[in-house]
Amino acid sequence: MKGRVLWVSGRHCQIESGGRDWTCQLRGRLKRGHRLTSSPVVAGDWVEFISAPDGIEGVVEHVLPRLSKIARASAGTKAHEQIFAANVDQCIVVVSASQPALRPRFIDRAIVVTLMGNTEPVICINKIDLEPAASYRVVAELYRGLGYRVLLTSATTKEGSDELFQLLKNKTSAFMGQSGVGKSSILNCIEPGLAIRTNVLMANHDRGKHTTTLTQLHRLGEGIYVADTPGIKRLQPFGLNQSELVRYFVEMEPLATDCHYRDCLHTTEPRCAVSAAHDAGKIDSLRYESYQRFMEDL
Ligand code: GDP
Ligand code: ZN
Repeated sequence: MKGRVLWVSGRHCQIESGGRDWTCQLRGRLKRGHRLTSSPVVAGDWVEFISAPDGIEGVVEHVLPRLSKIARASAGTKAHEQIFAANVDQCIVVVSASQPALRPRFIDRAIVVTLMGNTEPVICINKIDLEPAASYRVVAELYRGLGYRVLLTSATTKEGSDELFQLLKNKTSAFMGQSGVGKSSILNCIEPGLAIRTNVLMANHDRGKHTTTLTQLHRLGEGIYVADTPGIKRLQPFGLNQSELVRYFVEMEPLATDCHYRDCLHTTEPRCAVSAAHDAGKIDSLRYESYQRFMEDL
């Protein structure tokens, strides 16, 4: 049978198929994963499984190719790819207008990670009730100008929550954001009582030898699936080369072919078309500086 993984814990996973849930075992290769990834089976994966004759516990046979994923590099000396969720339609990048302060650089990193995983970013600026002067509008317009969808929300006044709900309908969405920006609160506007336990899951994963899931796929009404990602302090993409970074900065990428040097990284090189566009005011300084800082980390 074919089904979708809701979560993984140790040697077991929960699968939704044919209108019910099945508990299945992971065996061998699927249990351990291989050297470069700790994520052989993740929330959102489509799998083929055999339901057991006693109807109690099936076995996962095969993971179908992932169409998209939300992943990052693990912390530590030997980084591997940590996949939070697979087959995600969109990634809701949540930042707060205030408390904690709005961080455009987090947005840029999240956009890179999202595009690398073949998923579409949507930017959600939450806690707008805390900023009556609406200074976040500059940031909202910047990203709208780049072609990204930007939602303005408040979990307190519920402003924007209907727009978010409409956007989530019949889709699988990942939520990504630093802790405290209000991810759980805005999800609770949509489904009161929804328990998001990301930090607990993350703690288990760090400790254990088991393949404990980083993420759970929550089912809300109206065909909404939500994958929560752990409260992320630092978002480091996995396997990104310096020369590839420009691909994920949508306004810079088309200029790169006009640089004098073919291997230009658009940092300090002379006759760089990206720097020239920035000097001419055609590339926003926030984005240009964000690119420079990002490059230093690669
Ligand atoms: P998470 O770590 O991203 O899941 O953030 P939480 O949902 O736990 O929210 C962190 C804190 O911010 C809590 O004290 C919330 O009550 C508060 N909060 C969340 N959303 C809003 C909002 O839109 N406006 C205001 N004023 N506070 C909010
Ligand atoms: Zn250049």
